[in-house]
Amino acid sequence: MTDVIISSGRERSLRRQHPWLLSGAVASEPGEAHAGAWVRVVSKGGEVLGYGHYSPKSSIRVRLLAFGKEDPGEQLLEQRLEAALARRREHPLLRETDAMRLVNAEGDGLPGLVVDRLGDVVVLKFLTAGMHARADRIAQKIQALVDAPHGYRRRDDSSARREGIPPDEGTLWGSPPSEGLIEEAGRRYAVDFMHGQKTGFYLDQRDARQLVMGLAAGRRTLDVFSYTGSFAVAAGVGGAASLVLVDSSEAALRIAESNLEMNGLTCPVEIRRSDAFEALRSASAASEKFDLIVLDPPPLARSRRAVQAASRAYKDMLLHGLRCAAPSAFIVVFTCSHHVDPDLFQKIVFGAALDAGRGVRWLRTLGAPADHPFSVHHPEGRYLHGCLLEVEAGAEQSA
Ligand code: SAH
Repeated sequence: MTDVIISSGRERSLRRQHPWLLSGAVASEPGEAHAGAWVRVVSKGGEVLGYGHYSPKSSIRVRLLAFGKEDPGEQLLEQRLEAALARRREHPLLRETDAMRLVNAEGDGLPGLVVDRLGDVVVLKFLTAGMHARADRIAQKIQALVDAPHGYRRRDDSSARREGIPPDEGTLWGSPPSEGLIEEAGRRYAVDFMHGQKTGFYLDQRDARQLVMGLAAGRRTLDVFSYTGSFAVAAGVGGAASLVLVDSSEAALRIAESNLEMNGLTCPVEIRRSDAFEALRSASAASEKFDLIVLDPPPLARSRRAVQAASRAYKDMLLHGLRCAAPSAFIVVFTCSHHVDPDLFQKIVFGAALDAGRGVRWLRTLGAPADHPFSVHHPEGRYLHGCLLEVEAGAEQSA
């Protein structure tokens, strides 16, 4: 058995079952020839604390899959895959869709592995040296467990760089079409699973889409950072009076257009290809008003150091959103940076409301749905924070 020894006094987070052993806490390790190996993690005093996958080039040197003395053996991987799939089969919170996350990395006890089902296509991402080394085994097991005709391996350049693994991509089984098609609660979406963001669709916003669909009737709706229009379609199907979509990506907006068409929407639609911050500013300068506004930006804080600047950007975004809000408007707003925690998020919302001079009520806290669980031992897995706001009925005060 290959051992990774922890520096003395650095085993605390492991004892709390946090699944990451960071490079700064390692006293001795096997080295690059063992990339991806199943290793035993041992304290300086010789106590065995757990088992996991070794990543010699990553700042996260070991991702633990099991804690304690007993070696559960490599077949733990297959057991975890079976358990992840079993949890989702017929899950009461996930019934109405053929588009869901089947494996959510640490949240399913499988750090470094993401598996999304998008209609007929299953998309796998191997994000660590350990999962990369076991890609064939995993693909075989998923193919056996999931009744889907096509499997596709999606590259992820940033994790490949961090882990020192090749950014492989391509067909795993079947012959994936160039574009996928999914259905979610009766809404249909085209998905570019080969080149799109994430694995082509924001599965993690399913619950929020449902909420938006239920709120949209008769409302002039603004979908900012629309990507392929997942919220706009939901609002349209829910009876929105009109739709304005804003995104900077031409490719995403092209798919958005066909998604709107595919769902037979008849309300007036306007697609604005623009920087979202500029679009919000000019909408508020032009006194445009909306009754339902979705603000779903990309992660603006990719590191702890970026949090302050990102907080300002989030606040600016919401401030301008509020300036475009009609009396009694609903605003659905998110951050998907795990560095922005729920407290900070609430402060940002508060600050924006104060600057906008609007009374705002927080109606509901929003987050990722049941197929994106996070382990309570791994708070970093909780990245999506959102809320549904209701703007006061009275007109804007001129502050
Ligand atoms: N709401 C979407 C997901 C948003 S992802 C959904 O439910 O599917 C973030 C989107 O923001 C991406 O489509 C990206 O193209 C866009 N984006 C990133 N920076 C932007 C900017 N400064 N202005 C406008 N769009 C931007």
